[in-house]
Amino acid sequence: MAAEPVLRDHLATCGRILAMQGMLGLFGHVSVYDPGTKRILITPGMGSDKANLRPEEMVPADLDGKPLDPAGRPPVEWPIHTALHAAREDALAVAHLHSPYATLFAIAKRDFQPVTLQGAIFSGGVPLYSEAHLITTPARAMRLVEVIGSKRAALLRGHGIVVAGRNLAEVLYASLVLEDDAKKSVQAASLATLGFISPEECRAFDAEIALQRRAQRAWDYFSRLEARWDRQPATGKSELFP
Ligand SMILES: [Zn+2]
Repeated sequence: MAAEPVLRDHLATCGRILAMQGMLGLFGHVSVYDPGTKRILITPGMGSDKANLRPEEMVPADLDGKPLDPAGRPPVEWPIHTALHAAREDALAVAHLHSPYATLFAIAKRDFQPVTLQGAIFSGGVPLYSEAHLITTPARAMRLVEVIGSKRAALLRGHGIVVAGRNLAEVLYASLVLEDDAKKSVQAASLATLGFISPEECRAFDAEIALQRRAQRAWDYFSRLEARWDRQPATGKSELFP
């Protein structure tokens, strides 16, 4: 695991990229966990300016959600992050987002299945956490851990999504892919019945190109775009509640 200054820098970058893509805004947060120190770092909560996140704004906390720095408190839905970090070795980074298209699947009574080759990482679908409430207690978060099982993501009914990964690059990539697949599903459904990528096709694609490599390339690419992003849209208008 990288040293904390590096993690802070990467976490802030990850948040700004998700903001640039309209997937993190008034709501949502991303975290990274160091099993060596048992500390998590999480982006600040509702109302903070995600498009301008700086490394020093990242909030350190322990696995009980206790802030480890008097300057900041973790967002109220911190149990999402701590429960997954504690339960799964492959969930060292976690994003909770209200990303616009993926959230449509958390509203519509329709299962999510991958429709693109990149979506192969969601082979077998994305389970639904069926209670419509915020995950603000460890008990609710344990229920989420049960629902998500060994999958990479879950839908939260009437609310948003949760995505887990081995590192921030993987969680960023998986979040972008889930949103893109959801968007393409919504758009293609107006043309005809959706053609899903089968579990066998997903396995074949995953075997051809390692996820780690795709995730790192996506990280490098979007980091470069973010570095030259003009973050002031001419109209000042943004997606309402990602
Ligand atoms: Zn939320």
